[in-house]
Amino acid sequence: NIRLNINLITKDMVKEVLPFRKKDSYKGNYGKAYVVAGSTGMTGASILTCEATLRSGAGLLKIPVPQSLNTIMETRLIEAITVPLPEFKKGVVGISDIEKIIKTMEESDVITVGPGSGNSRELEELLRNILEHTSKPIVLDADALNSLAKRKELLELITSQTVMTPHVGEMSRLTDLEIDYIKENRIEVATEFSRKWNTVVVLKGSRTVVAGPNGDIYINETGNPGMATAGSGDVLTGIVTGFIAQGIDPLKAAMAAVYVHGMAGDLVAEKLGEYGLMASDIVKQLPFAIKEII
Ligand code: AMP
Ligand code: MG
Repeated sequence: NIRLNINLITKDMVKEVLPFRKKDSYKGNYGKAYVVAGSTGMTGASILTCEATLRSGAGLLKIPVPQSLNTIMETRLIEAITVPLPEFKKGVVGISDIEKIIKTMEESDVITVGPGSGNSRELEELLRNILEHTSKPIVLDADALNSLAKRKELLELITSQTVMTPHVGEMSRLTDLEIDYIKENRIEVATEFSRKWNTVVVLKGSRTVVAGPNGDIYINETGNPGMATAGSGDVLTGIVTGFIAQGIDPLKAAMAAVYVHGMAGDLVAEKLGEYGLMASDIVKQLPFAIKEII
């Protein structure tokens, strides 16, 4: 039986893990992120994740884009490098050019999969290939988690360098536990899952729980119910990605990201209230949240 070390996340804990930006540094010092996200109807999810990655300080961002969506992505995300790829069906990245994806992964410091990817066999195969070909830090959210839930054997490929960010619905699909049970036993469920699959888990919601496989548990108290809105989680995924890109270890990156995400959401709520809060507002407040912490 493992001893749990349960902590409330504080501003000082976050400050301690955010990297100091040296005067003579360049973008290569702040990491390369590779975000596999978005499909027709859900390019917004990818854009929110990507903007949050860059707003969290990552040095470089590359995204594979289904060919037919490339114009949209290049127009909307001018700082990212897009890599147009063959489509499995219109608007969905396929694995026919998996070598290119693997090559970009090898050049990246963190690989993120899932927001707005859509559910398909092709995504499950893409995820399998990604997990089989790298031991680099990986962030898995949304449809990547749904793929794992459908293909539970893929969970065996997960390493301790992985951060998974399920909300209770996704956690329910991953564990086959009832949503109500998960809600009532958030710490236990996150801890168990983290140990079972040797992964960092972020169980999202009010008082998000971050659990590491060695028994370190962090509870977050920033954030507000205004953040229960479309795209909010995609922003969190981008922050985790941006922090890992900068060399923060996955557990600490997840801990810092949930705090910063909630704090940015609180800054939005102060100005706009909770009803009017949209996910893109959280992205816009990220710089101010980070500025207040460092
Ligand atoms: P998702 O469901 O994937 O869009 O993720 C929602 C995001 O908003 C997560 O980061 C949640 O922790 C956050 N969130 C949702 N509801 C609340 C709430 N009532 N209080 C604080 N944060 C919340
Ligand atoms: Mg989500």
